[in-house]
Amino acid sequence: MTSDTLIDALRDQGLRITAARRAVCSIIAERHSEHITAAMILETVQSDPDAKADQSTVYRTLDALETAGLLAHSHLGHGPAIYHLADDAAHQHVVCSNCGKTAAVPASSLPSWLADLQEATGFTVDPSHFAVDGLCPDCTSTAT
Ligand SMILES: [Zn+2]
Ligand SMILES: [Zn+2]
Ligand SMILES: [Zn+2]
Repeated sequence: MTSDTLIDALRDQGLRITAARRAVCSIIAERHSEHITAAMILETVQSDPDAKADQSTVYRTLDALETAGLLAHSHLGHGPAIYHLADDAAHQHVVCSNCGKTAAVPASSLPSWLADLQEATGFTVDPSHFAVDGLCPDCTSTAT
């Protein structure tokens, strides 16, 4: 997905395409695989003197992209939400509650307990919204 696709989606929602919104879109298009947070986006936008952006501009832009179905957020432990492009392969995160390291498994290999949960409750679960907490291999070995 290119930043033009994201900008078009904002325009479709009647948002004015400002330098700040353009900058937010290009950061997402370039860096979505890094688990970027709204704060990282804001910091990068503010480093561009032409793009006068405040926090609410960034959040409103992110909201609009989520509404358009192009962007999705996930929560990794207690940290701030991270953003993925919706066309990134869906994946489930595990996060280390000690050091914050993350790992991902593709949603196509839905863990069997999630499939069981789905079967038992009839819910269609969205496992990508929240990460599963635990201890990574390094932290497990130092804890013992
Ligand atoms: Zn991820
Ligand atoms: Zn959320
Ligand atoms: Zn760890």
